[in-house]
Amino acid sequence: MAIGEGKVVCVTGANGYIASWIVKFLLLRGYTVKATVRDPNDPKKVEHLVKLEGAKERLKLMKADLLQEGSFDSAIEDCEGVFHTASPCINNSKSELIDPAVNGTLNVLKSCAKSSCVRRVVLTSSMAAVQCKRGPKTNETLVDEAWFSDPQFCTQAKLWYNLSKTLGEEAAWKFAKENNIDLVSINPATAIGPLLQPILNESVEVVLNLINGGKTFPNYCRGWVNVKDVANAHIQAFEISSANGRYCVVESVEHYSEVIKILRKSFPSLQLPERCADDKPPMPKHQVSKERAKSLGIEFIPLDVCLKETLESLKEKKFLNF
Ligand code: NAP
Repeated sequence: MAIGEGKVVCVTGANGYIASWIVKFLLLRGYTVKATVRDPNDPKKVEHLVKLEGAKERLKLMKADLLQEGSFDSAIEDCEGVFHTASPCINNSKSELIDPAVNGTLNVLKSCAKSSCVRRVVLTSSMAAVQCKRGPKTNETLVDEAWFSDPQFCTQAKLWYNLSKTLGEEAAWKFAKENNIDLVSINPATAIGPLLQPILNESVEVVLNLINGGKTFPNYCRGWVNVKDVANAHIQAFEISSANGRYCVVESVEHYSEVIKILRKSFPSLQLPERCADDKPPMPKHQVSKERAKSLGIEFIPLDVCLKETLESLKEKKFLNF
């Protein structure tokens, strides 16, 4: 018998990049999935979900908006698990980010608190809520789940997405504690790899932007992870009963110069930026602990494979021609 057979779970923002993979893997594991989207009548948002294996029998699309109180009640009421993934992404304004991330998350958790069925909530947080604080990171710095981003620093640096994820996660832990909700958070780095949805999302765009003819690459180190590992981490965090707290989900931290090298090796015909955007010493490459992610059984897909899969998917979806 499939592990999810007879079990009902909810995924919020189900049409998104990460959530679509969560929905796909849940359906393959036999779960019945109540998938919330803002507009179930928009084919660009739902067609790729409806086509997934098992969707005809076990996918239920539901309309819900983070900013409407009670919007998630009917999607969540009979669910054993809730994967709260919906949240606006980086390129939104401050006001568009904070309210849905904080009050939207509380809205979802309030619906969970009303239900007598919900056993665990898995929150999609981010490394943006972990590592964003004052002071330089060196090659020796090891970031782990005990790190919390500093809202004051995020505000001063005008890092509104980081602030939204930090405040959203903080609010979630507080509400979960006060209302006896079993909450686990997944904190991924920049997720790349194949797209299921037809729309380009922001983290994959980070890779596409390197290939669109720019002359320079940023002097910056970024954490990277495959979207399939992120989706699996969510499901493991629900299924493993002893899972708890936060999980950093990061395959590697690499400077853009290294990413360019890998891309050049895999795709020699690509036009890639040749030099760094400044003459300063390269930003040091900190480390992120993999110990807790490995306890969820995640065996990370290496960055070169992540990049290869991303480019092949961008080509297949016609965002890239090479
Ligand atoms: P995405 O493809 O842009 O998906 C975002 C989802 O959130 C969409 O379904 C979007 O719905 C929904 N959403 C936004 N505002 C909403 C609102 N007011 N009401 C209801 N739904 C709303 O982004 P993603 O990369 O998959 O991100 C999903 C989650 O992962 C987010 O919580 C993000 O912070 C987190 N995360 C992402 C990465 C990454 O590198 N991709 C890394 C770490 C954490 P519409 O399509 O209707 O706008």
